[in-house]
Amino acid sequence: MKVQENKTVRGYIRMCADGWKQGWHERNGGNLTYRMRPEETEACRPYFYVSSQWTDMGVQAENLGGEYFLTTGSGKYFRNVEDDPEHNIGIVEINEAGSAWRIVWGLEGGAKPTSEFPSHFLNHSVRKNATGGECRVIYHAHTPYLIALTYLLPLEAKAFTRALWQSATECPVVFPGGVGVVPWMVPGGAAIARATSELMKEYDAAVWAHHGLFCSGPDFDTTFGLMHTIEKAAQIYLLVLSGGQGKLLQTIRDDDLRAIAHDFGVTLNENFLN
Ligand code: 13P
Ligand code: ZN
Repeated sequence: MKVQENKTVRGYIRMCADGWKQGWHERNGGNLTYRMRPEETEACRPYFYVSSQWTDMGVQAENLGGEYFLTTGSGKYFRNVEDDPEHNIGIVEINEAGSAWRIVWGLEGGAKPTSEFPSHFLNHSVRKNATGGECRVIYHAHTPYLIALTYLLPLEAKAFTRALWQSATECPVVFPGGVGVVPWMVPGGAAIARATSELMKEYDAAVWAHHGLFCSGPDFDTTFGLMHTIEKAAQIYLLVLSGGQGKLLQTIRDDDLRAIAHDFGVTLNENFLN
């Protein structure tokens, strides 16, 4: 079975198409990486061919040495992934030191992994530790309503988490730990990678001010669902602000949030309750 016919790779491709359909991936906006299971790597290995030198990432994570990742290509468009996976996505192998990648499948025609690979990589490292190895997906999207909120709310985890929790009753159940917020930074390098991964020690989602959102999760459904839930909550928050001209008649109160947490068996991050 060819790489692009593998069930997991098909799931990855579908997630790219789904994100495009949501309007989160203008041009080459956004990127997606997946840390492959050993059996998935073995199923794809007959099709591997080393097509690049080892390339230093400028960041290092020993707990990811020897791993294989599916990644979108830098400058590649999500809307093209489904039609032409070989040119738009690829598989990279990580060296034993966890400091460099090389392409072993796809990214044909001289393409490279996403420019945000350092951020994805360090996020994978901290989420792998934080979840006992469960986390496999890191997803970055340019979600318009959430980006708009980064012009209106203080760039703090508490302000964003409360606004989102109060915007839809299911939110505290989907992300009881809240969301982190990275201030505006130049994208694509080691500095924003380190700042994001610091937050990812605590949160499974991190907002990038005036840019987008990073989400993590154990599988494609959960990670896409987290992105979708946060973005929809941001949309509702903005509809309320604009419809009410900045005034709210009522909202979900802190005791309501506590009641949801109790009945749904989740533990809310206490720092974000009043
Ligand atoms: P890439 O095309 O390199 O993945 O960059 C897109 C992006 O969203 C940068 O933050
Ligand atoms: Zn981006």
